[in-house]
Amino acid sequence: MAKYKEQTSLIMIFGATGDLANRKLYPSLYRLFRKGLLSERFAVIGVARRPLTNEQFQENVKNSVLEAKETGNNIEEFASHFYYHSHDVTDSGSYTVLKRMAEDLDNQYGLGGNRIFYLAMAPEFFGTIALHLKSDGLTDVPGFKRLVIEKPFGHDLASAVELNEKIRKAFSEDEIYRIDHYLGKQMVQNIEVIRFANALFEPLWNNRYISNIQVTSSETLGVEERGRYYENSGALRDMVQNHMLQMVALLAMEPPIKLTTDEIRSEKIRVFRSLREIEGDEVAKYFVRGQYGAGEMNGLPVPAYRDEPMVDPHSNTETYVAGKLMIDNARWAGVPFYIRTGKRLGAKSTKIVVQFKDIPMNLYYQPNKPLNPNLLVIHIQPEEGITLHLNAKKAGQGMDATEVKLSFANTSVNEMNTPEAYELLLYDCMRGDATNFAHWDEVALSWSFVDKISDYWESTKEESFPNYAPGSRGPEAAEQLLEKDGFFWWRVRDLNVENC
Ligand code: NAD
Repeated sequence: MAKYKEQTSLIMIFGATGDLANRKLYPSLYRLFRKGLLSERFAVIGVARRPLTNEQFQENVKNSVLEAKETGNNIEEFASHFYYHSHDVTDSGSYTVLKRMAEDLDNQYGLGGNRIFYLAMAPEFFGTIALHLKSDGLTDVPGFKRLVIEKPFGHDLASAVELNEKIRKAFSEDEIYRIDHYLGKQMVQNIEVIRFANALFEPLWNNRYISNIQVTSSETLGVEERGRYYENSGALRDMVQNHMLQMVALLAMEPPIKLTTDEIRSEKIRVFRSLREIEGDEVAKYFVRGQYGAGEMNGLPVPAYRDEPMVDPHSNTETYVAGKLMIDNARWAGVPFYIRTGKRLGAKSTKIVVQFKDIPMNLYYQPNKPLNPNLLVIHIQPEEGITLHLNAKKAGQGMDATEVKLSFANTSVNEMNTPEAYELLLYDCMRGDATNFAHWDEVALSWSFVDKISDYWESTKEESFPNYAPGSRGPEAAEQLLEKDGFFWWRVRDLNVENC
């Protein structure tokens, strides 16, 4: 596996006129090009239904790069590598044209038959495209062939199995790159380094020293124009099955023997296998669902979820989930991992808080003024960094202890904007590193965990909906979920890194 070298391949983007391609993929490819990580020998074929000439497509690509506030150096040269094919992916005849076009570009740019097929389209097309790529010979190449597939990977375990069977007819497991863009985020990738490169943390990373771990991913936006998709998804499928469980796996996994894709993935898979299954009435004890009502955000009125476009006015879909996960293995027995995620909350923030246990006899403990526990906070977005909350002597007379925060801001140390998740993931895919993509076993195990919760929720209407106000911390029941264990959610604002 070559590291940090120029990469050569033909990248076929299905869904080339869509939001993801324009907002994320073209700017990310441009950044790789500008950094010299995309060789001169690369070409992109954009595939979508709309008729466009190559020149019009190249104009679109340039505009999306400039809209992403990139400096325009060499942008003409970059865009000249982009070609367009207007093609309905359900039309069998059209794949032969695409094949010829790919072969011509292979020869023109000397691409060695390396191909990446990026499916940036609605998931109902994933299986059809993969099968056509094989049956129409687009995957018969002398170089590598890789399939990059966006979320959602299925709607539940059964549909994920069906999709996987289709794509496995055309690609082997190690040729499939299932995107979970959280795994491309710098500070998510940093979890492993923080854990496994610090003598300070790894010996304490277990149920003897950690009392609980809290993973929060909150958004201030509502569902906006994604109502149709969201109605069939909800926060559980949209966020928990993938991003939240992936972060939990990285926090909980055993140290891998080596930092290789297979070793890291197999440790993560063991975490998914150790997750305590929650089903039936138990779901109500471990999970809380919420849906936002109407209210105000930043002084402006915002509609209730049920009044958003394309949403059923009696919808039972959750826009908020909080849950308590138990990992039944020797390291984590008895330590709750609390997760929460939702829309229209008071802050946009993704954070992990690791709360350490109090020391057995704390000499500085005062009954009416308890000491703060030690916390390790990993700030994932929008801030990127780490804060360690310790106790130290309060300046002045006496020996009172007070909380101090040691802060590290990732962006200021790197002296540059940290790379976009998609930039890192595209580059990983080009160099054949699948570590930060979800393996099928991870996807299957996480669906099987989540399905039991959604089955229960779908069979029981939540009478309290809507149960939280826009701009709030979510439903009251999410606070009680921790209170009954003697904990509370650390407030985002108390954890902020002032100097990040
Ligand atoms: P989009 O609706 O903006 O774009 C869809 C694209 O597919 C368009 O280019 C359209 O022309 C093309 N298309 C639709 N039907 C076609 C057909 N029959 N033949 C050929 N082309 C066809 O969607 P999007 O927001 O870009 O999302 C694409 C995928 O990425 C989805 O799976 C989505 O869940 C996932 N995703 C998107 C984002 C995001 O930020 N937009 C984030 C995470 C995941």
